[in-house]
Amino acid sequence: MAADLLPFVLCIAGDRKEQVLAVPDADMSGKESNCNKKEAVMAKIRMTTPLVEMDGDEMTRILWQMIKEELILPYIDLKTEYYDLGLEHRNETNDQVTVDSANATLKYGVAVKCATITPNAARMTEYNLKEMWKSPNGTIRAILDGTVFRAPILVKGIVPYVSNWKKPITIARHAYGDVYKNTEIRVPGPGKAELVFTGEDGTQIRETVHEFTGEGILQGIHNTKKSIESFARACFNYAVDTKQDLWFSTKDTISKKYDHTFKDIFQEIYDTEYKAKFEELGITYFYTLIDDAVARVIRSEGGFIWACKNYDGDVMSDMVATAYGDLSMMSSVLVSPSGVYEYEAAHGTVQRHYYKHLKGEETSTNSIATIYAWTGALRKRGELDGIPELVEYADKMEKACVKTIEDGKMTKSLSLISTCENPVILNSLEFIQAIRATFEEL
Ligand code: NAP
Ligand code: MG
Repeated sequence: MAADLLPFVLCIAGDRKEQVLAVPDADMSGKESNCNKKEAVMAKIRMTTPLVEMDGDEMTRILWQMIKEELILPYIDLKTEYYDLGLEHRNETNDQVTVDSANATLKYGVAVKCATITPNAARMTEYNLKEMWKSPNGTIRAILDGTVFRAPILVKGIVPYVSNWKKPITIARHAYGDVYKNTEIRVPGPGKAELVFTGEDGTQIRETVHEFTGEGILQGIHNTKKSIESFARACFNYAVDTKQDLWFSTKDTISKKYDHTFKDIFQEIYDTEYKAKFEELGITYFYTLIDDAVARVIRSEGGFIWACKNYDGDVMSDMVATAYGDLSMMSSVLVSPSGVYEYEAAHGTVQRHYYKHLKGEETSTNSIATIYAWTGALRKRGELDGIPELVEYADKMEKACVKTIEDGKMTKSLSLISTCENPVILNSLEFIQAIRATFEEL
């Protein structure tokens, strides 16, 4: 589906592109769009504040257009401020577009992001890049100072590998510091390793890490009070928002200063800022050691948020996603402590499917996570702007997604993990159109 089929007006406002998606109904009767009569007479839902739209790469960029044309533009008078984070445009703008899109998110409060390529050596050649640009998600996270919440999308017929899991487990991963911003030394031979902090006034704190008698390895990691506080508030706010219990776990018995500080900061913020609200909502905050948490999570029936330090969250989110079925059935949102939201799919750009698509071959790529990124963002916009129709639209579209799969219509990867007896396997566009048909019937 060519991008130029999409009728929109592009206005350049300063260095920003304001995309006003005013789609005349008459223009939507083309063969790609298949507007039916019902929709022609239905008024589109109006928006007051634009969403920050971050377009992306490869197969997910293709799905992005399909989703807009089939599932959004027919129903919503979509207002977005458009940023093209496709790798070519990031390269053209020296990655300035990524920074601009994050700043726009701070301004408007809600963004929806398509999956993007994080360049590596192969991409440098493929896209003839000026530089190996950083991960857009990393750049955006650093500007928004956020915490990433990932939750599985549950449907009947896709049964979690852990049989007692009945409700979603949302992983909240601290996205700053620890081993992801480390300093390492390969110790060449005998010698003394020390940890030294020099204050601004020159005062030093010094600890011996180890007296090496031979070769070894050494690592320095850090975190900041500010970032841990932001993480804690994002988790407490999300628990209040979604009315779920919050669990938090570290290894504070072993790491009596580092991990213990995480535990203390969470407890203090909970006691002073959130305890009353939690009690009012009937939800709980529960701290336990990471190994105890792992055991309890497996035995639980789900239905809570599990806040994890950066590394624990990295590892546990892949375990939880796989145990629930599939990365393409995970929703993901970055929440900043100031209440800014960025919705995206948890998976990547599905490169292998894109190459098939480029060769003109049929693809069967699951668009659910990308659709949920849109519905999540539109729902939040509706809540913030007091537009209940937008919230209802998002709820109904998500219901249509679930029902379509439960009715046996799905993409190939889902059919492989579904217990549905005779699934109808659809291609990428057909699946989105099937969701639209279900939506029309609801
Ligand atoms: P990926 O795009 O998530 O895909 C890995 C494999 O998972 C696919 O080849 C496919 O398996 C399956 N898959 C993932 N999403 C699917 C979907 N929606 N429907 C059906 N199958 C799906 O990860 P990757 O191939 O490692 O990375 C590709 C690019 O994405 C990289 O350039 C990476 O930098 C980027 N990436 C971006 C983000 C982000 O923006 N959030 C996250 C991760 C990766 P089969 O091929 O077996 O069908
Ligand atoms: Mg990981």
